[in-house]
Amino acid sequence: MFNELIEKLKEFDTVGVYSHIRPDGDCIGAQVGLCLWLEKNGVQAHAFNDDEVPLNLNWITDYFPVHEPTPKLLNDCDAFVLVDGNTPSRFGSYADYIEDNPKPSYMIDHHPDPDGCFDISISVEEASSTCELVFHFFLQEDIGQIDEGVAKSLYTGIITDTGSLQYDSVTPETMTIASELLRRGDFKPNEVAERVFGNKQLKQLQLLGRALKTVKLFENNQIAIMCVTSEMLEKTNATNEDCEGFVAYPLSVAGIKAAVLFKDLGGGIKMSLRSKSDLDVNKWAREVGGGGHKKAAGAWHPGPLKKAIKDVIDIGAKQLVKVNES
Ligand code: 5GP
Ligand code: MN
Repeated sequence: MFNELIEKLKEFDTVGVYSHIRPDGDCIGAQVGLCLWLEKNGVQAHAFNDDEVPLNLNWITDYFPVHEPTPKLLNDCDAFVLVDGNTPSRFGSYADYIEDNPKPSYMIDHHPDPDGCFDISISVEEASSTCELVFHFFLQEDIGQIDEGVAKSLYTGIITDTGSLQYDSVTPETMTIASELLRRGDFKPNEVAERVFGNKQLKQLQLLGRALKTVKLFENNQIAIMCVTSEMLEKTNATNEDCEGFVAYPLSVAGIKAAVLFKDLGGGIKMSLRSKSDLDVNKWAREVGGGGHKKAAGAWHPGPLKKAIKDVIDIGAKQLVKVNES
């Protein structure tokens, strides 16, 4: 599966690697890991993202810089690889650029229902993370090329996409890869975990405190929700990035099947949906124009907050009926 793309990529002088908008640990880890692989194999790489890398992940870009795309850098690229998303619209300005400048484009991802527009797709829904897939580029070619930067980048994506190796997407294979990365990168799990999860600012905890008070249960205690209002963000001087990980709190309520975090970000309501049952939140999110995985998905609602909650709970309730019948 990886050979075809590996051979193709080696034919180019310069390849642009995009991570998805509003980047997370998996897309940044996979992007930096893949750029390092390209450069170690004779291909010049550029790493692009329209948005800024979150503060807790910025250290990864010391191993390979991630830039906002400029026309010059984009024109330098002979081809593109998109990581951790499976449709051009997840990659912001890439979608417009490629329409005007058709160039070979490849995709490496683990989300369901991939767009068929790519020249080669590595699309493995069962993979815990895109970083797990990028590991195979090294495994296939030269595992000795995994140095500290590669190992820490890929390890970051694995732990951020699996709730620190807790989700049901984790397989023995995931653990073997994580262990191999620790060995080859010569680091201990806490070194990365502390950087990624253990450097919160006081305002994040103050925002969490306010948000926790909004946790409510719906549909006979099957759905838990939590809200972050624009007022809370203003009062604590926090932003969307400061809500990272919040959805784990409503999801941790005993006995519920799914949780939704609603964030009123001014321009609309961003929702994070999570499931710990057979309820498929990818299907749920798709009904409101979003998407994701069965157990973790996201979407936007134009608002206001109350309407978003009502609309989204109504859809969830209908899907719960189907799940409970089956
Ligand atoms: P999060 O809730 O952490 O923002 O996102 C969870 C998952 O849902 C991610 O893996 C991401 O790929 C997907 N996701 C989040 N927001 C959106 C969105 O607006 N559209 C789509 N299609 N997927 C999203
Ligand atoms: Mn991912």
